[in-house]
Amino acid sequence: MKWSIKNEYCISCNSTYYKHKGKGLCSKCYSISTEIKKLDNANENELDNFMLKYISSPDKNKLKSLDINMQKEKIKNIIISKKLKYLIQYGQIESNKIKVDIVKIETILNEISRRAGRKNNLYTNRLLKFDTRFNNEQREIIALYLLKMLI
Ligand SMILES: [Zn+2]
Repeated sequence: MKWSIKNEYCISCNSTYYKHKGKGLCSKCYSISTEIKKLDNANENELDNFMLKYISSPDKNKLKSLDINMQKEKIKNIIISKKLKYLIQYGQIESNKIKVDIVKIETILNEISRRAGRKNNLYTNRLLKFDTRFNNEQREIIALYLLKMLI
């Protein structure tokens, strides 16, 4: 079954992970695009609210020295990268736009270990031995299931 009437997958993140919400977008990408539209139309006071929501205090002062459009651009990138990075990766793998190598799996595991409160890159260079053991399909399955923990 197709993901939506018109599309095989979300036109923004390329994944079928979330249900179709509208305009070819999944529920996640739809809410991000709504947020970005609000940001685009925000005046200076409203922009402060976006900063409170998305920017840590030390970075806020740096941002304030930029002109308003640059501020918006930076906040936009942060909104997208915080909310969408791993979903986009999921979609790229799911729709065969990128191949999964063992380094990609290490990177995902490192992110999972950071979420678990470990700061170092625990898995870097730890999986090289497995590289010859897994074929592409097997690596893909591992990566997709690991990414689900980060989405
Ligand atoms: Zn999406």
